[in-house]
Amino acid sequence: MINGNYHTHTRRCKHAYGSDEDYVLAAIEAGYDELAFTDHAPWHLIEDETDRIRMHMREMKEYVASIRALKEKYKDQIKILVGLEAEFFESRLSELKSLVQEYDLDLIVLGNHFHIKDSNETYYGNYKDYRNLYHDYLTDSIKAMRSGVYKIFAHPDLFLKTANVINSATIEMIHALCDVAIETDTIMEYNLGGKRYRDHYPNDTFWKIVVERGCKIIVGVDAHDPRHLKDTKMMQEARAFLTRLNANLITSLD
Ligand SMILES: [Zn+2]
Ligand SMILES: [Zn+2]
Repeated sequence: MINGNYHTHTRRCKHAYGSDEDYVLAAIEAGYDELAFTDHAPWHLIEDETDRIRMHMREMKEYVASIRALKEKYKDQIKILVGLEAEFFESRLSELKSLVQEYDLDLIVLGNHFHIKDSNETYYGNYKDYRNLYHDYLTDSIKAMRSGVYKIFAHPDLFLKTANVINSATIEMIHALCDVAIETDTIMEYNLGGKRYRDHYPNDTFWKIVVERGCKIIVGVDAHDPRHLKDTKMMQEARAFLTRLNANLITSLD
């Protein structure tokens, strides 16, 4: 019962490995029915931004063409989707919507990594404006979910990398995220990337609340290497953990 993975990167983001086809072959070998490529979104860069962890805008066309060619080549073995994992940059949301339209993208995953722009200071995993961490993360997340652009919210507990504590404010914040996930039918992603690197997410307390609230939950591989797709044990353990909690777990977008 493996079904789909909707969080897959490519080497265009400069921190993932292997060819696009290697990911497809790994997914087929692992037994996936559906694979969505959702590489880190390109943005028209502002201020001091760089494309150090994402493809450049000029690579977008080749990215989509490559995945669409694989979709056709392997259509009898696996269903392939092409999309992006994108931040919520409010002033550039229309830019993202244009990409969706221009390339007829299948899926946008919310990767709320940065506030306003991609920089070390504004990274939610090590947020410099500590006092406003919850406020800014929550505000961006809510606006993103309500924009209707994003179907899955990747690693919604990423902010715990900055402040790895669960207190009453954190619990209030988790509930506020769940309120809007339910309102907008956004799927919360239990992220295996964090698990793989023994990061501060996925956080058990966070996920117990998300489960209690009845949010839709999916496990995402966040593959940055074809081998990550082949590690089906990690996927099964995560699903078993969520199933024990009685989660509203989904394994396919179909
Ligand atoms: Zn990445
Ligand atoms: Zn991410």
